[in-house]
Amino acid sequence: MKSLKRRTSEILALPRDLSRRFSSSWLSSDVQLVDVSKSSHLISTQYESLDYDVAENELYTKEANQQDSDLYFRMRVSLARWFVMFLIGVFTALIAFGIDAGVANLSSLKFSVVSYFMDQAVDRGGLWVPLLIWVSFGAGMTLVAAVLVSFLEPVAAGSGIPQIKCFLNGVKIPRVVRIQTLFCKAIGVMFSVAGGLAVGKEGPMIHSGAVVAAGLSQGASKSFNWDFGLFEYFRHDNEKRDFVSGGAAAGVAAAFGSPVGGVLFSLEEGASFWNQALTWRVLFSAMVSGFTLNFALSWYHGHFGELSYTGLVNFGVFSGQPYNWYELPIFCLMGAIGGLLGALFNAINYRITLFRFKFVRRPIIKVLEAMVVGAVSCALCFLLIYSSDLCSADDLILSAEDDSSVLQLFCNDGQFNVMSTLTFVTPETAVKCLFHAPLGSFNMPLLLLFSFVYYVLACWTYGLAVPSGLFIPSLLIGAAWGRCVGIFLGHAVGEAEVWVDCGKYALIGAAANLGGVVRMTISLTVILMEATGNVTFGLPLMLVLMTAKFVGDIFNEGIYDMHIHLMSVPILGWEAPSLSHQVKAVQVMNSPVKTLKTVEKVDSVFTLLSDPKSLHNGYPVVDEATGQLRGLILRDHLLILLQRNIFREFATDGTHSQLKLRHLRDAYPRFPTINDIPPSVLNQGFTIDLEPYMNTAPYIVSDKSTLSKIFTLFRALGLRHLCVINSCNQVIGMVTRKDLARFKSKTSNSVTKIYELSYVRN
Ligand code: ATP
Ligand code: MG
Repeated sequence: MKSLKRRTSEILALPRDLSRRFSSSWLSSDVQLVDVSKSSHLISTQYESLDYDVAENELYTKEANQQDSDLYFRMRVSLARWFVMFLIGVFTALIAFGIDAGVANLSSLKFSVVSYFMDQAVDRGGLWVPLLIWVSFGAGMTLVAAVLVSFLEPVAAGSGIPQIKCFLNGVKIPRVVRIQTLFCKAIGVMFSVAGGLAVGKEGPMIHSGAVVAAGLSQGASKSFNWDFGLFEYFRHDNEKRDFVSGGAAAGVAAAFGSPVGGVLFSLEEGASFWNQALTWRVLFSAMVSGFTLNFALSWYHGHFGELSYTGLVNFGVFSGQPYNWYELPIFCLMGAIGGLLGALFNAINYRITLFRFKFVRRPIIKVLEAMVVGAVSCALCFLLIYSSDLCSADDLILSAEDDSSVLQLFCNDGQFNVMSTLTFVTPETAVKCLFHAPLGSFNMPLLLLFSFVYYVLACWTYGLAVPSGLFIPSLLIGAAWGRCVGIFLGHAVGEAEVWVDCGKYALIGAAANLGGVVRMTISLTVILMEATGNVTFGLPLMLVLMTAKFVGDIFNEGIYDMHIHLMSVPILGWEAPSLSHQVKAVQVMNSPVKTLKTVEKVDSVFTLLSDPKSLHNGYPVVDEATGQLRGLILRDHLLILLQRNIFREFATDGTHSQLKLRHLRDAYPRFPTINDIPPSVLNQGFTIDLEPYMNTAPYIVSDKSTLSKIFTLFRALGLRHLCVINSCNQVIGMVTRKDLARFKSKTSNSVTKIYELSYVRN
């Protein structure tokens, strides 16, 4: 709380019209204001919105009319949509394949070198040599990942799921879908996973899929200045959003071999806007992705055409391990434990993140921190193996292709150190071990110790400046303590009972732990069902995930939402805050409004656009005589008009139609800035006719509307600007996403209060 207060006090002075606050006299008696320093987060003024609403100007309507009557054109665009989704699936899977192969090769290099020195040390003494080598591998590989993120592309850090969630909600997170981000993410995640950090490669796949989608759907790359002239009709925020939903689903499908889970993930976690046709296309993209990865991996492992490698992580099929109805309460209890552990995880990670905001700011410090975590992770794994004397002779635990990762250490010939099956392998393999190793493979102290160490490491690691996923570490922690529950039950009721199966409890524990951290229910249920190839566990998994979410939500929010709020993103939830029907439009809107006239002097437009106090992205266009609303024009479009000298004085045919929609699409998404406009256009007495280019039917609300209604309108239509008008149709205020996102409500001691967050410029 102390740190939050500090952050609140650090709020910078904003332009006067923006820093307007609630005045208590505006509020009805049962709306109470809360001290802003008690708010859980702030709203950053630095994030711009995406424009999901199409600006219906004369150019657009003319084109749309022509296209609507052209069946051939409509079919072509529709086919192109499917084709792009197909490409997204294929390319996402190929990236996943590249990452998988990269991790496998880097890991096996590391493990073979370390195990060679380990064997030597066991024979001749001097275990510090393999320790040093292992730690150097950890620090060195983490260094590569951290340098890519810290110096090249900071937005490639973490899983990217919070950022994609924001993008789909309508917030532009700078550079999040750039090709450079994809490069840093893909290469970085190979090194962070192979380096031995407590991370997985699955979360970053979702981000990678989204970048692939955003790039491919545009048929152009601004970064490389390439324009293939393809898919120009998709160069709009709302088209791009739909493809990004497909990309995220393709990412999940590739990561877990779970296409339906991918669609549900996009629906549950990501996309804020959805329709039936999109569901089909997203599912198609996810299926193509799953198939392509399967095909590529089968080929890579020498089983061309067999299609037996579903997903990057393969949990192995759970077969013939039924559950009984009387186990359901035990599962629910495990869900509750997962919820508690997840809430604690999030609370600790929250504090670590605040600490990082404050002290780990410079890129070099971020790199050093990552290297320290990499080194400590390897050292702890080594210590865990060294301190464990449980040996096993069974061939149970690891499948044939992983045998090279098993360490004999001090065990007799023909036996191996059991702890090494958890710490000397990639986390994915460890999860599989815990799910499928037979009864008696592990003991409780070993599992509890491992679970605790991994919990601490994962909590410390999430938020480091390296690409990192949280799914696998969370599953691994949960699988370890879940297996303990199984072993405990075995002791309690007798191992002879058929239903005592440790693998089953490891699966339930894994689901509970992951659910407690990320608080997803629908998609996780299906992802785990698809990844384990078992439909029978559908109900238990769902119960567990729901309980984990319910318990976790009592204490705090899911980790992705937490990080979104820590980034101060103006994200809009599914529903308006409680009591929002008490707040009227005049309390939400910003005024006075910066407007333009239908025919405007070039000099005035230039002055307005360059004034730091009116750096808005949309300006209502009003009638000069009556002040009545005529339309709304976007800043980007005004800049193009200025850049291309679309002035009335140059109009040859009197229709001022020199500007084409193609010009707008070519400039998308990096429109010119005011600095790109040559000053030569000024002081010449030129004028612009805005009528053909403005959105003639912008969304409006009356000054009597409530916050609840405005919120629903905004959320359902994905708006960016909303004009508030009076009874004479004059614009009296503007509402944007930041005006809405700052309202929150909170219930404590059965009293619900609505309050405003502060703005911060970070
Ligand atoms: P966004 O940043 O979401 O793309 P924007 O830049 O137009 O949209 P914001 O940055 O959200 O607008 O605006 C900050 C504040 O300015 C908000 O309170 C909003 O209501 C207000 N605002 C937006 N457009 C205008 C305008 N033309 N005149 C006056 N205030 C405006
Ligand atoms: Mg803005």
